[in-house]
Amino acid sequence: MSAELLDQSPEQFIARLREAGGRACLTWDHEEARVRTSHPWLADIATWLAGDARDFHAHEGVFMAVGPETGALMTATVHTSVRGQAAGGLRHWPYATIQELLRDGLRLSLGMSRKNALAGLWWGGGKGIIARQSAERSRDPGYRRTLYREYGAFTTSLRGVYITAEDVGTQPDDLAAVFETTRFATCVPPSVGGSGNPSPATAKGVVCAIEAALDHCGRGSIAGKTIAMQGAGNVATYMIEELLARGVGRVIAAEISAERCELLRARFVNAPVELRHAEIGDLSIFAEPCDVLAPNALGGVLGPATIPMIQAPIVCGAANNQLLDDRRDDRDLAARGIVYVPDFVANRMGIVNCANEQYGQIGGPDKDPAIERHFSRDWDNAVFVVTKRILEHAQTSGITTSAAANELADKACRLPHPIWGHRGRAIVDGLLADDWAR
Ligand code: NAD
Repeated sequence: MSAELLDQSPEQFIARLREAGGRACLTWDHEEARVRTSHPWLADIATWLAGDARDFHAHEGVFMAVGPETGALMTATVHTSVRGQAAGGLRHWPYATIQELLRDGLRLSLGMSRKNALAGLWWGGGKGIIARQSAERSRDPGYRRTLYREYGAFTTSLRGVYITAEDVGTQPDDLAAVFETTRFATCVPPSVGGSGNPSPATAKGVVCAIEAALDHCGRGSIAGKTIAMQGAGNVATYMIEELLARGVGRVIAAEISAERCELLRARFVNAPVELRHAEIGDLSIFAEPCDVLAPNALGGVLGPATIPMIQAPIVCGAANNQLLDDRRDDRDLAARGIVYVPDFVANRMGIVNCANEQYGQIGGPDKDPAIERHFSRDWDNAVFVVTKRILEHAQTSGITTSAAANELADKACRLPHPIWGHRGRAIVDGLLADDWAR
């Protein structure tokens, strides 16, 4: 039975959810240290969660609903709200099974808790998911607006325990639609007071992390260095600008989009930047002799197929979830003597850039001192300082850099919000008391 429910497609699961009234949830019972279910038929999922030590870490809640008009499956997974509201982007992606979807929510929300905590944000970690119904339908602007308005209303129903934002498959315009039906959203467009494109800040943060790794390894500054990148998209482009401003010797970027290559060749004409058009599956950039390798395209790129050929002493890039297996590949990198800067340490500025939108802006988005201090070297929580702290902790403790980052992040996650304490827990208790899922 358990396998049956977990192996169901989102469509099959939706039928079940509709029968149950359109909403369901699994929440963590702090007193009894067990998963509570809103409906008995979810018991098998609770059993699976309880036995899954890898991805389930006493997550505070998984909330599920069916979009009233679109019929799409929407979820919000709250890993922790100890440090504050559980914040993390909204992924709009196709899933074959409900188990795949739940696993993604569990992993990504845990990752957000760690990223937010290490960035010093007073936020917990969460993740939103919309199971994509069909690629064709999802391109229709009318459908999208309805879908994201529905997601906003779903978020509102959760009373602020989860704060949504942009993620894979969700565009800035979509967040504008979300913002029409909830105030519990960030990364909203500048037209409604949001912070806009996070890529320049993300890029600058990654470059600060690269500087920290070079410094840690006693390799000096970026000046004269060779940096190889996989992907030449939004973040990579701003990174190239930052690197050139710091006197980088050479940048080699492998990119699968010919159009993007042309665009950047024109943008960086006369600069020491080489755009290589790569076929999908071409991994040769990983074998490039260079000082730093920056995975700036997709996740899951550091694994048995790439790690043995890496020539760089440092890997530090923007892509999320770079390790194919987060319990194996950090060790394999360390075994080869490669210093890996965990992705969520290097790319934190995307979320930092939009985290405190509600507190207003000083001098515009690229001047605000609350953002700018993350790029300094004299603030205890700056990207450079935190990256060095993690690399040093890994070195002195004989653990991998991922383990070091997770250890520091998990400690920070346990620190309650200085004003609100663990208010998210009370919000969830209130939802249950008011029969949110009925
Ligand atoms: P993007 O889509 O603009 O850029 C990715 C680029 O990689 C695209 O140009 C794509 O064609 C290229 N690409 C894809 N597969 C490739 C391959 N196998 N080889 C070479 N090139 C390939 O995305 P982005 O906004 O620049 O983000 C890049 C990465 O950073 C993503 O993993 C994203 O999740 C992560 N990230 C981005 C931000 C942000 O602020 N944008 C913040 C945090 C993390």
